[in-house]
Amino acid sequence: MTSEDLYDSLRRLDGKPYPAYKDIKGSYEFDNFTLSIDRVQGDPFASPSRLSIRIDHSHSLIDSGLFSNASRRTGSETFLALAFSSACHREQTSLGSGKSGKLEIDTPGQEILKRTCVEIGETETTVHFSVGLPANGRRILGKAAIGLLTETLPEIVSQALVLSEEDKTAINSFADTNEDADHLRSQLEDHRLVAFIADGATLPRASGIDQHPLSNAVPFQSPASQRICLTVPHAGEISGMGISDGITLIVGGGYHGKSTLLNALERGVYNHIPGDGRECVVALNDATKVRAEDGRSVASVDLSPFINNLPGGKNTQNFTTENASGSTSQAASIIETLETGSHVLLIDEDISATNFLIRDARMQQLIAPEKEPITPFVQRVRALYDQYQVSTILVLGGSGDYFEPAHRVIAMDNYLPHDLTPQAKALCANDPSPTHCSENSTPFEIGTVQRFADPSSINPYKHAAPYRGSRHGGHRQERAPRKNIKAQKTRSLLFGTEEIDLSLLAQLVNSSQTRTIGAALAYACENNRFNDQSIIEALNSIITLLDEQGLSILDGNDLAEIRIQEFMAALNRLRSLRIE
Ligand code: ADP
Ligand code: MG
Repeated sequence: MTSEDLYDSLRRLDGKPYPAYKDIKGSYEFDNFTLSIDRVQGDPFASPSRLSIRIDHSHSLIDSGLFSNASRRTGSETFLALAFSSACHREQTSLGSGKSGKLEIDTPGQEILKRTCVEIGETETTVHFSVGLPANGRRILGKAAIGLLTETLPEIVSQALVLSEEDKTAINSFADTNEDADHLRSQLEDHRLVAFIADGATLPRASGIDQHPLSNAVPFQSPASQRICLTVPHAGEISGMGISDGITLIVGGGYHGKSTLLNALERGVYNHIPGDGRECVVALNDATKVRAEDGRSVASVDLSPFINNLPGGKNTQNFTTENASGSTSQAASIIETLETGSHVLLIDEDISATNFLIRDARMQQLIAPEKEPITPFVQRVRALYDQYQVSTILVLGGSGDYFEPAHRVIAMDNYLPHDLTPQAKALCANDPSPTHCSENSTPFEIGTVQRFADPSSINPYKHAAPYRGSRHGGHRQERAPRKNIKAQKTRSLLFGTEEIDLSLLAQLVNSSQTRTIGAALAYACENNRFNDQSIIEALNSIITLLDEQGLSILDGNDLAEIRIQEFMAALNRLRSLRIE
């Protein structure tokens, strides 16, 4: 069919009841692209219709250099998604009831993530988006639909998907930036670094709710002792602060930029769009922020490296609770993170349980060790590195107890880092703290027991058992169980009858990732992945599958890449989860 056929159909549908829109499902050839109407909404207030556009590279002027490797391809796709999104915003107008006239694409934030909304293939680009088909009440507004689909949409395509000279420069910089960042991250291990922050980077964000860069921020500048020069394909030589593996302490006065630095590192597991300020701030891709999260549920986690002898004799080798405390939640999230294979923990005093991080000498004298269930992190942090090669970057302005286990101490002063390692170590030599980590710590083991889930405790369906009739009337009616998965905000996931609270997962950066986690978890259930594999094996097998076959094997639109860390964290927060 052609665009004229679409025009004729819409004219015929004018004034008809809304469901008649189903007739326009199908593909239409336009001058320089193909429009597919893939799913038609049931009414103007329902979630909008799903459409896609395919445009040949000869029309969009996308050259093969823009997708010559995975990094460049994802960078270019991100540019197109942003361009399409801005064009939709410029061009759309409300055309009637409900969502009539709404044009929307999954819009990237500051992070560059592989997404399903735009896919650059070998010969053409496919763009998936949603459209509110216009209606007045429940009557089709055919003429408005003609304007929307045969005039506005081609205009959006020519603005967003056909590259002007200016666009070509911009899309290239997305591809280059993404490729450079991947290159940078890939060099970390060779230099035994866990993170790198380029000189000149802008770390602070515009506000607590706005991830755009803060204007007039003090640019980052590395201390000479930690400076390293790395080379990337496009930007060439980049100097900056390399954070070596081991224990790194970030200290300094309040409001001097400590948390800002750590926040930039936690987002450094992802790449950033040009102009973000953190384009060359990278961390190892398994680096994970761990924090206190009192009130969360915990399912059979071995907390014994940190917590023992709880009141009431509660088992901490197999710890389960509906309502964790600050310290137990933080201990659980560390053990769970290690279960995913992470090598870097990121911890900020602002969001940690104090009694989990430290217990000073006086308190140790007052409260006998056998009365204190917690072995504070300060007594484990070094062994975590020495025994398990797990590095920690810790922001702590309030205690010097970590000077001893730390390999280096970086002080933030007016937003700039200084290496105070020698001074901090000198203090330890003068006044050895009685809480010295190695003295107090008893040996510990991590990750020896694999957790297997009871498969029935992970249920993506709304009706646990097939629904049979109502209490009244008695007519028997089978209702097929309906998958019920919905990303509500960025960090809340409806899964079956459960709501998973992901609000404190700092490295879950986009609602498309939340959607993907839901879809991937459902996929794992539907394919019986939990039946004979441990939960980490099951989730890892799904992540591998997504890497190999792409996100589109999952059921759902507007998906984005996820890490095993957030995937696992979501399952760990599913309150129905039971471990066998
Ligand atoms: P700390 O954790 O040391 O108490 P924060 O990292 O929370 O401090 O930073 C305090 C404030 O300073 C924040 O509002 C932050 O946006 C701002 N800030 C951080 N780094 C910079 C910088 N490089 N330039 C300008 N402002 C900054
Ligand atoms: Mg802080």
